[in-house]
Amino acid sequence: MYRVRRWSVRHARFFERLYAMFEGVLVHLDPLLSTIGYARLERPVAAVERTIKGFIFDCRMCGHCVLSSTGMSCPMNCPKNIRNGPCGGVRADGGCEVLPDMRCVWVDAWEGSQRMRGGEAIRDVQVSIDNRLQGRSSWLREVRGKAHQRRKMQEVVT
Ligand code: SF4
Repeated sequence: MYRVRRWSVRHARFFERLYAMFEGVLVHLDPLLSTIGYARLERPVAAVERTIKGFIFDCRMCGHCVLSSTGMSCPMNCPKNIRNGPCGGVRADGGCEVLPDMRCVWVDAWEGSQRMRGGEAIRDVQVSIDNRLQGRSSWLREVRGKAHQRRKMQEVVT
């Protein structure tokens, strides 16, 4: 929903904090998630993620979420699907070249990033999208990766 999406960008700092807490809890729950099986969890978690993020961010379930690097403005809402934006066609009023009634998602991304503690991440170059991840849960992917890193660090320390 367009209005909610814009509201989320205006509250990017709040969502940044909320997600950090949420992810921290899930990373702690990794032993349980591993026991259940990440593959088994994929479908139900993706369904929950689609519902929540679809409402808040107009998420398109690309499977590789970059919201924390784009001021909580989902780049998949760009009609050109540009992951490293903006293109050269942004209108003088900040409108999208293709959909003039819509504000450029990258103008929103920049404004959202200025409200975030980790907003500098907007300067990072994003890798091109892997379409095999379409429809899959970014939450599980991130949590699994971070939990794996944490285990590796613990092995090094002990
Ligand atoms: S970047 Fe991908 S996973 Fe994140 S909100 Fe946009 S479509 Fe959804």
